[in-house]
Amino acid sequence: MTIPPHSQLLIGQLLMAPAGRNPDQTIHDGEGSVHTYRQFHARIGQLAAALTRMGLDRGATVAVMDWDTPRYLECFFAIPMIGSTLHTVNIRLSPEQVLYTINHAEDDAILCHADFLPLLLPLLSRIKRPARLIVLTDGPAPLPEGFDGEYEALLATEAPDFTFPDLAEDTRATLFYTTGTTGDPKGVSYSHRQLVLHTLAIAAGLGTVPGKGGINRDDVYMPITPLFHVHGWGFPFIATFLGLKQIYPGRYQPARLLSLIAEHKVTFSHCVPTILSMLLSAPEAATTDLSRWKVLIGGSALSDGMVRQARRHGIDIHAAYGMSETCPFVTVADMVASQANDDITIRTAAGRAAPLVEVRVVDPDMRDVPHDARTTGEVIARAPWLTAGYIENPEGSADLWRDGWLHTGDVGHMSPDGTLRITDRLKDVIKSGGEWVSSLTLENLASMVLGVREVAAVGVPDDRWGERPVLVVVLEGAEPVENAIMVRIAAAIATGDLPKWAAPDRICAVAQLPRTSVGKVDKKLIRQMLAKGEIT
Ligand code: AMP
Repeated sequence: MTIPPHSQLLIGQLLMAPAGRNPDQTIHDGEGSVHTYRQFHARIGQLAAALTRMGLDRGATVAVMDWDTPRYLECFFAIPMIGSTLHTVNIRLSPEQVLYTINHAEDDAILCHADFLPLLLPLLSRIKRPARLIVLTDGPAPLPEGFDGEYEALLATEAPDFTFPDLAEDTRATLFYTTGTTGDPKGVSYSHRQLVLHTLAIAAGLGTVPGKGGINRDDVYMPITPLFHVHGWGFPFIATFLGLKQIYPGRYQPARLLSLIAEHKVTFSHCVPTILSMLLSAPEAATTDLSRWKVLIGGSALSDGMVRQARRHGIDIHAAYGMSETCPFVTVADMVASQANDDITIRTAAGRAAPLVEVRVVDPDMRDVPHDARTTGEVIARAPWLTAGYIENPEGSADLWRDGWLHTGDVGHMSPDGTLRITDRLKDVIKSGGEWVSSLTLENLASMVLGVREVAAVGVPDDRWGERPVLVVVLEGAEPVENAIMVRIAAAIATGDLPKWAAPDRICAVAQLPRTSVGKVDKKLIRQMLAKGEIT
């Protein structure tokens, strides 16, 4: 049965309720500029008209290189709504990788903030497909050579009442690249239908948490996950759909983020643990009221130590789990249970399946492991919004979707009540004497030791055992922490929470941990640095 044009699930529909119900609600940038939803709606029409006038519409791919700004949010809507694909360029990749993604995506246009011109301009001669170029500036500036226009100037010449085309809901809406530990970045895309369903389901899951937990219409939203990282984890769509006051902070600087939280009374954000750690370590954190702030942590495990630190500031912190290939949300910590019982283990668990999601933990023969909160296996999932596969990568796609389930490459266990806990990444597992050692459990124990700011557990090759665990720590101060960590680990071994072969052979202190382009600890690099003796 074909779905008639008026019944397709389209990103544009996410705008209808907030623009009609609450047109004076506001969207802010980090510099004091503000638009109402009414103006935001009009600007989406103007941007759509400007892009269409440049010949970009159905089937075109339009790249964006920007900080987290309200203009980026306009692109989240206008570009897919004209039938084009929004390519969110990861501006933290190396220039060669940025070039690779632009060429691989075959971008027809690039919208580039002036701050990223030094990255883009040297690449232009090697971009294979001629692209229309639009610069985004924060004030008067000459148009760079070869550019077709400046964003605000282009919008200013257009009328806001653009008539958007009818589209099929499976039209590609977004595209971005995920970088694994090896090989070229892989293109992941989502359709209108997938993004609408992800938005509705996550809004329903978080929106039905009683009390002040979850997300509700009184919330003030500020992303601290870059918008190029899985569409800012889909939250800009959710926040807009709910008509929330939104703050787009621009470039991430801890003092500025904290002052925006205070100024706008921000109540809801999401980020990777590293960013929260950076914020809470800033001197301004001590004097900023964070007691209204709800933070969803994803992208890496949320440690007990980080929950304790956040709770000291009064932050309502929870973990969520997903990946680039899953739009991203698959599970969210049980916020209802955490309200009733402020238990760290509830907050740090990856949590329960989100609405419309099926999650399983399986052995290599695809048999479900017992739900005993101990037996580990690979996490696999199904949901209407998981990516269909990698762009022009049939092998990678087939591997991702083995046996009709999306294979996350993450290792975890499930408790009898369906709570998922991630214990490792398959590629990062430490195998000592043929047995797995959970790097996340080790990191979690070490994170609770006073004086440990950050920690990573990795396996190093060992002649006798195959691999042995090593901890690499960043200290808060000058006090040594090795003994305290070993005492905690010994206690966990004594209670049976950790096998005895999991005790690390070495604990190395470093000034900082290497990071990936999305701010996560780069364990592959740590392993290489240990092998080369650069970490001792
Ligand atoms: P990315 O594709 O960059 O979003 O990374 C996704 C990966 O981050 C997942 O496959 C997990 O390895 C990791 N991850 C995300 N959320 C969690 C979580 N709550 N706990 C542990 N690891 C997580």
